[in-house]
Amino acid sequence: MADATHPTPDAWVFPKIGEELFEALRAAHAGRIVLQVPAGLIRNATELVDRIRTETGTPVVLATRACFGACDFPSRDEAPRADIAVVLGHAPIPNVPLPRPTYFVEMRESGGDPVQLAEMVAAAQIPRRLGLVSSVQHLDLVPVLADALTRRGYDVRIGRGDRRLAYAAQALGCNYTGAEAVEADVDAFLFLGTGRFHPVGLAFAVDRPVWSIDPLQSLLETPIDRGGLIRRRQLAVAVAREARRWGILVSTFGGQNRSPTALALQERARSHGREAEILLFDRLDPRDLEGRALDAYVNTACPRIALDDAANYAKPMLTPPEFLMALGELPLEPYRFDTYH
Ligand code: SF4
Repeated sequence: MADATHPTPDAWVFPKIGEELFEALRAAHAGRIVLQVPAGLIRNATELVDRIRTETGTPVVLATRACFGACDFPSRDEAPRADIAVVLGHAPIPNVPLPRPTYFVEMRESGGDPVQLAEMVAAAQIPRRLGLVSSVQHLDLVPVLADALTRRGYDVRIGRGDRRLAYAAQALGCNYTGAEAVEADVDAFLFLGTGRFHPVGLAFAVDRPVWSIDPLQSLLETPIDRGGLIRRRQLAVAVAREARRWGILVSTFGGQNRSPTALALQERARSHGREAEILLFDRLDPRDLEGRALDAYVNTACPRIALDDAANYAKPMLTPPEFLMALGELPLEPYRFDTYH
């Protein structure tokens, strides 16, 4: 399964913070390292900076901007003097070019009892033809859980996605192409990981019931209400349908920039007699959109901004496929998730 050792010429992958990482950093003879940590590790960020500096003898600066995924690694402008980046908590996105050599520390977590988890799945009578999907932290548990489920009579399928995903079974909140690859062969999906972010996206992307299991807490969550999610988005499409003046949002983050999509959508809007302006941003703040003479937005950056955070914005915000639904170019059914390829 681990096929992402060198997914791009500039990416190196480490399971944890430890001697293997320090040795590689020492060997790289960097003049300066920029460290990026996810929200869950911010409390330890200063300590981590200190540890990496002590272990490698290299100056380390901390990227303090909130980061959401491997799509928004520190840019050249954010850390102009750093020649190496260390990114914690994410796997590389193989088809996204990096501005400098980047060491991804995936923070793999091998905990969880596969036999107990398989028992819980069987007891909940989750369908036997089952697709297995995981966040990067829990990927090491996927093969052993698949074995335990198979011994209980399950037909487990693990899909390989497109070039935005480094590993088979892996999910990103914007890309479930691994799951989609096996959707026709399964009756349900099981997401292995914590929180609702990934399973909610999976429920948008595949027309199958989605259960999720937290392997560390041995907690099996009830299936996501896919119908409810989609009805809310269809309502958003209906509300935006009459909008005349559209803002097309484009992010400058390295792995969130879909400028060609934005230009194509602008063309589509104009062909329907709508006005459409492209608005550039890096990290989107609802206050940046206040006071603009626009009726609605289509967001070409992270699809989860429109799907999860639309309530934070005063005007309707759609994903690109939803925008085409609003223009009448795509039907409302089947719902199309905005897969970021
Ligand atoms: S685009 Fe959104 S969902 Fe995809 S990796 Fe970035 S933050 Fe995560």
